[in-house]
Amino acid sequence: MNQKILLLAFLKENKAIVVDEPGVTRDRLYGRSFWGDHEFMVVDTGGVITVSKSKNEVMEELAITTTIGMEGIPLASREAAVARMPSMIERQATAAVEESSAIIFLVDGQCESPKKGIMQVSDFWTLGSFSPLPISALSGTGTGELLDLVCSGLEDLHEEQDEDYVPAISIVGRPNVGKSSILNALVGEDRTIVSPISGTTRDAIDTEFTGPDGQKFRLIDTAGIRKRAAVASSGSTTEALSVNRAFRAIRRSDVVALVIEAMACITEQDFKIAERIEKEGKGCLIVVNKWDTIPNKNQQSAVYYEQDVREKLRILQWAPIVYATAISGHSVDRVIVAASEVEKERSRRLSTATLNQVVQEALAFKSPPRTRGGKRGRIYYCTQAAIRPPTFVFFVNDANLFPETYRRYMEKQLRKDAGFPGTPIRLLWRNRR
Ligand code: GDP
Repeated sequence: MNQKILLLAFLKENKAIVVDEPGVTRDRLYGRSFWGDHEFMVVDTGGVITVSKSKNEVMEELAITTTIGMEGIPLASREAAVARMPSMIERQATAAVEESSAIIFLVDGQCESPKKGIMQVSDFWTLGSFSPLPISALSGTGTGELLDLVCSGLEDLHEEQDEDYVPAISIVGRPNVGKSSILNALVGEDRTIVSPISGTTRDAIDTEFTGPDGQKFRLIDTAGIRKRAAVASSGSTTEALSVNRAFRAIRRSDVVALVIEAMACITEQDFKIAERIEKEGKGCLIVVNKWDTIPNKNQQSAVYYEQDVREKLRILQWAPIVYATAISGHSVDRVIVAASEVEKERSRRLSTATLNQVVQEALAFKSPPRTRGGKRGRIYYCTQAAIRPPTFVFFVNDANLFPETYRRYMEKQLRKDAGFPGTPIRLLWRNRR
């Protein structure tokens, strides 16, 4: 189904977007809608439109507001937005906000011209943590982007509001690198059996744990991941299961501690795990364990070692490296401190103003290349649509005018100016019609 049809369906049930008279009080209306593979409920209050999501027939009371301010607005800001609304619609609006997980704060741009619209939209940046998005319900301008943003933010918005959210950390790596020893050093009790025999740690065991800064975590221990080839040739069900288990653990994790052994080489298997971590958008720290086994260590040892790790695990360039000796407990605390920092970065939101400043500076330093036909990419503005991992949407004239090299340049600049160590970040390029 193309965007326009979806949009019309969306609007059909939500006439408030095009209704001209303000403050028509009525009961809330609910309409089922979908976009891509997201299904959600749109709640129309006459003055405020919210969207709640339904997945696998299970209604989750997630809300989103539809409109100009498209980013997920945290609860406090939502309440503030409602406080600004006229009293006529306040009762309905408040009820809608309570059952919603996000709000679209729609204001009248009084103009259908995209150029003029942008200028007006910039005025709304002063409203607070809103990410303004210019749309025209009549012409369809910006409405696809609006739905994209609503959908990309749904899951993360849900997480953000969950006060019971306890990030999960998994400790993964090949057999015998010291995963169980690290877990034991962290939680201070013998929850798993440490054994020098490869593959003796069979099951993933979750342990609740509070870090030195009071941050709660759920630690997942996993069996080592063996070479796929070895698994295939050994025909061992246990080991095959342990590979799946480790990948499943990554999927369940927010932060992954990838453990490698100081004296051993980085293998294809480590690379595969690294790839999986990046692909799934998980936070990561690299733990170089058994640091005690490096002979004649000096101040340069870690520097040399880091160069090697960075080269072989290029895909995790952004991951901090922690050197540890699990058997003595030495520096294992740093693992949890680093994990805590990674978790914060993965959940961090940049303000739209800061973000656009970074983007403007990057643009000023290096423009997108001109095509042979003389066309050049233009970035209208950028917004952070989601966290865990941080996801940025660039609204541009034509996404095809931004080659991979330029996209990488922009990611590099974003990292240089805004950080995000320990977490993958996502840059999405969207045409603004
Ligand atoms: P796992 O299979 O990754 O869970 O590894 P284990 O935690 O079972 O450790 C495997 C072996 O390495 C055990 O004999 C541990 O005592 C040993 N080991 C773990 N950490 C260290 C360390 O920091 N230094 C040294 N020298 N040995 C370690």
